[in-house]
Amino acid sequence: MSDTDYIKSLLKAHPNFPKKGIVFLDIFPILRDPVAFETLITHFVYHLTSKTIPALPAKKVDVVVGLDARGFLLGPIIAMRLGAAFVPVRKQGKLPGECVSASYEKEYGVDSFEMQADAIKPGQTVVVVDDLIATGGSAKAAGELVAKLGGKVVEYLFIIELTFLQAASKLDAPLYSIVQSD
Ligand code: 5GP
Repeated sequence: MSDTDYIKSLLKAHPNFPKKGIVFLDIFPILRDPVAFETLITHFVYHLTSKTIPALPAKKVDVVVGLDARGFLLGPIIAMRLGAAFVPVRKQGKLPGECVSASYEKEYGVDSFEMQADAIKPGQTVVVVDDLIATGGSAKAAGELVAKLGGKVVEYLFIIELTFLQAASKLDAPLYSIVQSD
């Protein structure tokens, strides 16, 4: 079985979660299986180090940015494997010190993301990681935070992409996903 099929086989769909009409795709069964979790992380690291990403000719990622909250489970491990820094993007009011912020549309209303102002230095190459991309609103806001600090997002990485929502068109760098769901 391919990496992709193995990872895909472990995703669990939960109809009507967190509310009626939404089918939530749960990634936690992957983390419960040590071989699958290792396969997932190795897949991302191989992708970032063995393939040519146009904006990353030297294959050197300086910073991995993980999104609140499931991006925190993937980002630090990928960062350590790459010898890169890990930087969290959190919901407003959770991070100490000076922060930059960016707002994004949620299904109902607007939410804000923050990043510590000294977390990224101008010119650093950045990958943004989360478990799933739906509308792309949260990933786009994370990209805005990186840009505010002078960093350059070279790729947005996800386990799952809900392709019918066409998030890629909103982003300022390529999107890579292991599993595409329509
Ligand atoms: P977006 O901002 O792209 O519309 O939504 C993506 C965010 O919502 C991510 O942080 C992701 O964790 C969360 N999310 C939305 N739907 C799902 C889902 O079905 N499964 C998982 N695991 N996360 C979801």
